[in-house]
Order: sequence, then C-alpha cells, then structure tokens
Amino acid sequence: MTAQFWRKLPNGHVQCRLCSQFCTIPSGERGFCGVRANNGKGVLYSLVEGGVGALNLDPVEKKPLYHYLPGTTTLSFGTPGCNFACLFCQNATLSHEAREKGEARLQRISPQTLVAEARRSGASSLSFTYSEPTVFFELMAQTADAARQAGLGTIMVSNGFQSPEALSALRDRIQAANIDLKSFREDFYRETCQGRLAPVLDNLKTMRAFGWWVEVTTLLIPGLNDSSEELRELARFIVQELGQGVPWHISRFRPAFRMQYASPTPLADLERAARIGQEEGLHFVYLGNVAPQAWEGTFCPNCGQKLLARAGFITQGLPFDGRCACGERIPGIWSRA
Ligand code: SF4
Repeated sequence: MTAQFWRKLPNGHVQCRLCSQFCTIPSGERGFCGVRANNGKGVLYSLVEGGVGALNLDPVEKKPLYHYLPGTTTLSFGTPGCNFACLFCQNATLSHEAREKGEARLQRISPQTLVAEARRSGASSLSFTYSEPTVFFELMAQTADAARQAGLGTIMVSNGFQSPEALSALRDRIQAANIDLKSFREDFYRETCQGRLAPVLDNLKTMRAFGWWVEVTTLLIPGLNDSSEELRELARFIVQELGQGVPWHISRFRPAFRMQYASPTPLADLERAARIGQEEGLHFVYLGNVAPQAWEGTFCPNCGQKLLARAGFITQGLPFDGRCACGERIPGIWSRA
C-alpha cells in the first residue's frame, strides 16, 4: 500500500516524513525501520499495512496506564518494525526482525475486524503497541477511526518520535498514550537507541496540548541513565512542561537483546529514582517490572489517603470516580464517557 508522509527526491529517491528519522531512501531500498520501502519507481510503500505481528487482550495496567480506565482490558496489537534500534530492546523479535532479516511477517486482519474483536472480547479500548506504532501509522489511523466510531478508547504506546505532521494527524485519533522518556541525555538517545531526545520532548508537550491523557515511562538501566542528576532533570521536565499530575512509571531493566551482559536494576536504585520524582514534585510515581513494593498504589496528593492498590496488573479499589474523600480530584480518565 502507498504510504503516507513522504516526498519525492531527485534520482528516484524518496524522503519518508513519518518519523523524525526523516530517512532518505534510494530506489528499491527500505528505511531505517525496515518496513517502509521505495518501490523502485520513487514511490514509498508501507510493508505492514493490513496485518499485525502480535495481537493480545491485555489489562490496561500492562501498557502501563494507571490513570486510564483502570480494571479494563485493551485489545493490543503491533506490527514488525521500529524506528529506534535500542540496544536494550525488550521486544526485539517483533521490533528488529524486519530490519535485520528483511522480513515482516503478518497475520492479515482488517481494522474493522480488530474493532469487532475488541467489542466481542469486552475490551474498552484498542492499543497500538508492542513495537513502535508510528511505523504502522496507516493501520493505526484506520483502526483508531473505526474504534472511535464504535465508542472505544484508543491508546498509543510509543517512543514519541513521530514527525510533527504525523503527530498532528493523530491528534483526534488517540485518547491516551504512554510515552517512553528513555533518558534525559542526547548522547544516550544517539548512541544507545539511534534516535534523538529533542523531538521526543517536543512531542510530549504537543500531546499534552492536544488534551491526550499521557503517562511517561523510563526504563532504568544500571550505569546508563540512572544518575541522580539526570533523573532529577527528567522529573523536573515532566513537572514543569507536562504537569505534576502526569504519572511517571520507572521500570526495572532486565537483560535483553544486545545487553544480555548487563545486570537487572537493583530495587534500591528504582526507589532512589522514585524518591527523586517525588522530591521534584511529581504526584504519581510508580515502579514497574518488580515484585510487590511500596510504589504501586495511587495516593491522594492532598491528604495522603491510599485510593487505589495494585497487585501486578490488578487494580483494587474500583470503581473509582477520580475524587478523594477530601475533595481532591485525581487526574486521569476514570470512566467511559
Ligand atoms: S518511519 Fe521513520 S524510520 Fe521508517 S522509513 Fe520513515 S522516517 Fe525512516
């Protein structure tokens, strides 16, 4: 299928403008993500439209989203391909196979069937996730349109590296997002992910301006992005640019992909990061990928009352209307409109 967001260049080349890699793609070749190709005639094609590489019914807490329709399920899918190349990728089979092996294996399924399946299974939303949904923009957009028509929510779990024009096209299609803020250092993004930090920061601000419900996730990797100084800057950015009420999920790293040699994140470092988030003024800091611990619940920032407890992906204390007994409103989307 012909792709969106690209332009012709001289000599049969094209420039893909879907994400902030802005790849120049010679005739017959693929972009960095491995799933957008110049067809040899100077036209850009998506290799992942009309099918998925992974499809599951997940608790919404698994995205992770803790302040968006807790206790509901979300029909989640992704395709092969990714516009980053993170050395620590936790989902490498789906994300990197297309780039490394030149394959994009798909289970054919239409947007309408995905939405029908979501309704049949009782899901409250559809999630564009697992790999990087930007690279399957066309499928995401078509499915989001069908989902909104059917009264279902739409969730994007992303590295936040869309081009400005692609992000604008998602404005009315996405209701909630969990965005990775992998580090607060340009050199980390460049050397460890082959991406850039600045577009991610800009896009996070844009998503908030759109009115999306946004939660942020940082995978804490020992020795790479875990200095107190960097974490403090990152938390300060969330507070000052996105808001104190934006939840920050700090996730435990486990050895994966090109970083099999690295150690899992010690619990003490996760807790240090969480305390830094609180000290900088964040109201909702959560730890993920770890056994039960003190940073799973949602507490009222005004009176300290525990409002929601969590055990794994189970939320306790529902239904919750988003208001503490003291009158404080807890930011989030707590029920379907
Ligand atoms: S989506 Fe991004 S990585 Fe893929 S071809 Fe387009 S600009 Fe390159």
